[in-house]
Amino acid sequence: MTTLSQDRPKPGTTAATPLRTGAEYLRSLDDGRAVFVEGERVKDVTKHKAFRGAAQSIARLYDIAAAPENRELMTFTSPKTGGPVHRSYEIPRSHADLRARRLFSEKWAEATFGLMGRTPDHVAGFFTGYASVPEVFAKDGQKYADNVTAFYEKMRDEHLYVSYAIVPPQIDRSKPAHKQSDPALYAGVVKERDDGIVISGAQQLATGGVLSDWLHLSCIHPLQPGDENYANCLAVPINAPGLKLYPRRPFALRADNAFDYPLSSRFDETDNYVIFDNVFVPWEHVFIYRNIEISRAQWWNTTAHTLGNHQAQVRYVTKLRFMIGLAQRMNEMTGNIAAPPVQVMMGELAALVSIYEGMLLAQETAAPIKDGVLWPSPLILYSAMAMQSEFNGRMLEMIRELAGGAFITLPSSLADLENPETRADMERYQRSASTDARSRIALMRLLWDFLGSEFGSRHQQYEKFYGGASFLVKQNVNRNFDWKRAGALVDAALALPPLD
Ligand SMILES: Cc1cc2nc3c(=O)[nH]c(=O)nc-3n(C[C@H](O)[C@H](O)[C@H](O)COP(=O)(O)OP(=O)(O)OC[C@H]3O[C@@H](n4cnc5c(N)ncnc54)[C@H](O)[C@@H]3O)c2cc1C
Repeated sequence: MTTLSQDRPKPGTTAATPLRTGAEYLRSLDDGRAVFVEGERVKDVTKHKAFRGAAQSIARLYDIAAAPENRELMTFTSPKTGGPVHRSYEIPRSHADLRARRLFSEKWAEATFGLMGRTPDHVAGFFTGYASVPEVFAKDGQKYADNVTAFYEKMRDEHLYVSYAIVPPQIDRSKPAHKQSDPALYAGVVKERDDGIVISGAQQLATGGVLSDWLHLSCIHPLQPGDENYANCLAVPINAPGLKLYPRRPFALRADNAFDYPLSSRFDETDNYVIFDNVFVPWEHVFIYRNIEISRAQWWNTTAHTLGNHQAQVRYVTKLRFMIGLAQRMNEMTGNIAAPPVQVMMGELAALVSIYEGMLLAQETAAPIKDGVLWPSPLILYSAMAMQSEFNGRMLEMIRELAGGAFITLPSSLADLENPETRADMERYQRSASTDARSRIALMRLLWDFLGSEFGSRHQQYEKFYGGASFLVKQNVNRNFDWKRAGALVDAALALPPLD
């Protein structure tokens, strides 16, 4: 049986690592990681225009968590070291514990307006879930449960940022992993050694990979007999020899200035296609090895998937509050705010935002406790996620409807406000009844970057797919719904006695 240090406190047995600061985090990223953008290998991601702003946003999160005034909100005491560690690593055993996790993630989400999805607390949730039910990993040998627990403790006690790639590439989905044209196309084991294993192949889609310390590789797609080489769960440092990150087009590269692209320039967390080119992984960082059954159980028989996605919902609700705040400000500026049809639309928008707020709280209150471990309600969580794909687009459509030409009548760039030849026109004709031209343009740029720019468009795709395609999430809802109770009502109606 794995001994969790959270269960058996041994304070002081290991020296505590002081809480990581933003500056320390930024310094640590210059570690030789292989990141390729526009045909070139990036020397230092913290200095490259594509990643600098996002790296600084993550650094601010570390500073928020390390601030003495946030100690209670953001940290708990590591039972292993006695030092403060992020609450995102606390195994919830009561409803109050889950609430504390929410407040931690909410504080971070507010600092990024909910626009960075895979902040360090996301994969922290997955490993906290693994460590909550390590027996699942022990089915193939106790060493795997010990490894996953030790890695969870390492992440927690060293304040690490881990990203993950758990979906096979879309090369040929008509065939299983082992029947692809080349067995090393999908990331899988290509060699076993006495001291570990060697991985080759591709996996999608490590959001935040460029900005993280470690990468977690596993597979959430259903695997079938013959796919054993791809049924693994492991972690590698981002600068591991042979690990290559290919980010999609970074939006910050095209963001000329932070006024015209206030969000693209700061919060483009990157999504990375990951290539393993004979990457060696020592046994201590292997948690599942060539086992399809355990590979599946890691998601559904531990709290990993629900804890990780609880954080995702905290982040999403924060983003929705930001979204509706932007819409309200826009209505104020256009002078439409008192128009009854606008109020009706804003009421509908507020209803949808409130439904998501309510679903977040219900994940906590309806959370069952099994063997001393609290499980965020899978039914409520997956129901919220399943409909997100539809409602998110609908909410954005409503804002576009309310905007009319508001984003399109703006000048080409900040330069038009600064050029003496055009400034007077800008100040005279770009103002609104309630604000000057600069403030109006700033607000509309924020809104356009939120929903219309390339950054905004990627966000729509993110909300549709970050937790898997919606047809799969709906199957999770179907598995978790209380069909018995619903059916019993039908049986009761059918059994009603005849009327006299
Ligand atoms: C911006 C973004 C960031 C992401 N970040 C991460 C990350 O950090 N880590 C990570 O591991 N993953 C991440 N993902 C999720 C992940 O990589 C996948 O995109 C997601 O799981 C969906 O899988 P897919 O892309 O293979 O789509 P597919 O599974 O190919 O599905 C696409 C569509 O095809 C149709 N379809 C496919 N199969 C079927 C079927 N059997 N029956 C019916 N319809 C079907 C459906 O319409 C479905 O919506 C991210 C995704 C996005 C978009």
